Amino acid sequence: MLSSSSRVSHSIPTATLNLPNPIRFLPQILCSCFPGQKRKTSYFSNPVKWNSRMEVSRTANLPTRASAQPLKNADELIDSVETFIFDCDGVIWKGDSLIDGVPETLDMLRSRGKRLVFVTNNSTKSRKQYGKKFETLGLSVSEEEIFASSFAAAAYLKSINFPKDKKVYVIGEDGILKELELAGFEYLGGPTDVEKKIELKPGFLMEHDESVGAVVVGFDRYFNYYKIQYGTLCIRENPGCLFIATNRDAVTHLTDAQEWAGGGSMVGAISGSTQREPLVVGKPSTFMMDYLSNKFGISKSQICMVGDRLDTDILFGQNGGCKTLLVLSGVTTLSKLQSPDNSIQPDLYTNKISDFLALKAAAV
Ligand SMILES: [Mg+2]
Repeated sequence: MLSSSSRVSHSIPTATLNLPNPIRFLPQILCSCFPGQKRKTSYFSNPVKWNSRMEVSRTANLPTRASAQPLKNADELIDSVETFIFDCDGVIWKGDSLIDGVPETLDMLRSRGKRLVFVTNNSTKSRKQYGKKFETLGLSVSEEEIFASSFAAAAYLKSINFPKDKKVYVIGEDGILKELELAGFEYLGGPTDVEKKIELKPGFLMEHDESVGAVVVGFDRYFNYYKIQYGTLCIRENPGCLFIATNRDAVTHLTDAQEWAGGGSMVGAISGSTQREPLVVGKPSTFMMDYLSNKFGISKSQICMVGDRLDTDILFGQNGGCKTLLVLSGVTTLSKLQSPDNSIQPDLYTNKISDFLALKAAAV
């Protein structure tokens, strides 16, 4: 049920993934994917094509996976991996409330020597800000265990040796700015462009900074036309300017009353005006998985990805070659999982992560 051979059908082409150190060798990976292209500098290598290849792999006509099985023996799963990667919203908490049994479950996994990592596509907070949220909820989680897509954007720029004399234009909130600052990159945009408006009088032309070498787009509650035009000018007119998306989530959960337009809506606007596809660093792209695997020296077959969303969390785990567990404590219902329209099947599913405790007790 959990053998790696059962999961290869949704994997990214091996040429892009099954390499020992994907971050360090990213430029070589890019060149190996496109042998006709000469390597120039790592900054000008073409990561957009790398990502496009990943997108293709998600939609290719691949063999159908076996249906997900209910988790019956938690011990078997726990013993089979050394690391658990948890999505946060819908797995650890819902809005500002901790999900039942989470602290005890995390304590049990730690006591059994498991490495715990928390990965979120939400780019509005930095790792430090997420650390505070964990603390507020009474969970003891260190900053090093948290990977938000805001951090992933900065880590990606570092991994390609993004020139320090280039700037980053940010469409997004504070988390991205904080992570760029920590990584030593100069940026503009973000919350400072919230109030900016355009004035369409005859001959009006918007100036833009020609030293912007990357536009990072994340969820932005204060998205406006000024930001669209500024980001578009940078991408279209600055030679080699990168277009990086923290995620392309269709919806997010700003309140528990309904689903709200997610980061994918901001990314879609810039993609529409530039006619370019972004490089996505958040789930389901494998960038963060590769980064984690490299940082901790973990084999991906020793990782179990736990999430509540099929098209991000489970696909992220499958794209990375990990075991996958869907929890039904968030956005996915059992009927959605089992619908004939759903093609994304995790290895296992269960109601919530504290089932690890109940199923363990039942197995004794
Ligand atoms: Mg979630």
